[in-house]
Amino acid sequence: MIRRIAAIFAHPDDEILACGGTMAAHARAGHEVRSLILATGLASRGAVSDDEISRLRAQGEAAARKIGAAGIEFADFPDNAMDSVPLIAVVQRIEAFLKRFAADVIYTHHSGDLNVDHRIVAQAVVTARRPLPGAGAVEILACEIPSATEWSAPGQYPFVPTDFVEIADHLAAKQQALACYEGELRAWPHPRSLEGVAALARWRGSQSGYEAAEAFYQIRRVRGAV
Ligand SMILES: [Zn+2]
Repeated sequence: MIRRIAAIFAHPDDEILACGGTMAAHARAGHEVRSLILATGLASRGAVSDDEISRLRAQGEAAARKIGAAGIEFADFPDNAMDSVPLIAVVQRIEAFLKRFAADVIYTHHSGDLNVDHRIVAQAVVTARRPLPGAGAVEILACEIPSATEWSAPGQYPFVPTDFVEIADHLAAKQQALACYEGELRAWPHPRSLEGVAALARWRGSQSGYEAAEAFYQIRRVRGAV
C-alpha cells in the first residue's frame, strides 16, 4: 500500500526547513508526498507583485522536485497576517486539500512558534483532521522551523521532540531544495542558513544516535489496527 504523506505549512520554504529530509526519505521509500502552503510568503516584506509570487511558487515547485515530492499546492492567505482571517476559512482550505489527498501522515507546524501564521496553521490542521467517525487512521507530527520554533516567546509551548527520523542520506537533498528558494536563505550564523540547517540536523542526530536527523513532536496518532 502506498503511504500518503502531507506537509501542511504556512510559508514557501517552511516545508523544506521543517521536514525536507524526511519528505525525501518518504519519497525514496515510494510514498506519495504532497505539500500545501497556505500563505503567500511575501506580503510581510511590503507590496509584492504577482510576478514575485509566481517566482516564489516556481521555486517551491523546484524544491518539491528536488526531494521527490509528487506535488505542491498554494493558497492565498495573507502573509504574517493569518490572524486577520477567520480560522474556519483556513480549516476549510485544509479540509478541501485532505479530501482530495487522504493523508496517512501529516507534518505541520508547532503550536508554540514565534510566527503567528505557524500557530494558526498548527491549530487549523488539528481541527481539519479531527478524529471524526469514519476519518480513519492518521499520524500528525509537529515540526521545528529554525528561527521560529527556538525563538518562541516564554510561556509558549516548548518544542520537546518525541520522534526522530534519520536523514543522513537526505541532508544534501534538503539543502539543495532549500537553495531553490533564492532570497529566503540567510548567511551563517542565522538559523535559516545552509550551515544552520546542517547544524540542527547534526544536533538532532546526536540526540537520536544518527549522523543527522529531523525531530518531531507527535500531536496525535490514531491507529486503525495494532
Ligand atoms: Zn514560516
